[in-house]
Amino acid sequence: MSAMTAYVIVVIGILGLLIGSFLNVVAYRVPAGISLMRPSQCSSCDAPVRPWQNVPVLSWIALRGRCAWCGERISARYPLVELAAGALFALAAWWWVTSSRPGSSADPMALPTSLADAWTQLSGADSWIAPTAASGVALLAWLWFIATGFVLAIIDIETRRLPRGIVRTALVAVGPLLALSCALGADWWAFVRAVLSMLVLYIAYALLWLVKPGGMGGGDVRLAALIGLMLGWFGWGPLIVGAFAAFVLGGVYGITLMLGGRATRRTAVPFGPWMIVGAVVGAVAGSRIGEWYLSLLTVG
Ligand SMILES: [Zn+2]
Repeated sequence: MSAMTAYVIVVIGILGLLIGSFLNVVAYRVPAGISLMRPSQCSSCDAPVRPWQNVPVLSWIALRGRCAWCGERISARYPLVELAAGALFALAAWWWVTSSRPGSSADPMALPTSLADAWTQLSGADSWIAPTAASGVALLAWLWFIATGFVLAIIDIETRRLPRGIVRTALVAVGPLLALSCALGADWWAFVRAVLSMLVLYIAYALLWLVKPGGMGGGDVRLAALIGLMLGWFGWGPLIVGAFAAFVLGGVYGITLMLGGRATRRTAVPFGPWMIVGAVVGAVAGSRIGEWYLSLLTVG
């Protein structure tokens, strides 16, 4: 790994820690119907949270997990969510800069491989600035998708809901970001495929929902549109593998619960987290699994 790649991954990991801090607020306030604009305060003594008490992970350690004013315990969940978001962002960025897909840095000119290289490339800016911008904007869409999926999984597990505002905000951010990536030089066909996939997965889930209303919620249908948009950008293989992986993983989990006597056929198991994990499996491994499957068909 080059110095430049490592630098990009570390910076995006730190961005993930900060976003994780915000996701803590989203996961708590959105289901409770509390405004995101309100300043943070201690849930016990209402003391305002000062900026130095809001540094991801470090503040919690410095305060030894207690409110600075009243001494009430602050759940370890907060630094854990921040750490998890930081790790997810770093992994997502690492995957992004080391593999090839639409809008990615498959073009060796797209990301400078070292600081010295970056300087050399600056002299011929035209040749790298467009692919880097296209890749960076598409990476932003992917990170938005990861952050949304992470917070939705937490909310669905805790409340069995997928708040529509969060899904809509992600659709309104990811769609235009992918279009902007194309305007900057990524393949427009990837965007067309993303929109088609959004419609296909939305309609498929809407049909499932109509046929078996108890099986999933309207939130799952809306989330399917977002997953279709992101996976379609990556390709047909990621879309198909990602959609099926959700049902395979969710099914295995449900059967495991039933075998353990912790659920019956009637127990409602949140499906959103499996849709999201399935989508990540599809994005990362979908092309390879798709090729492998097709090779089986052609050999046979
Ligand atoms: Zn307090």
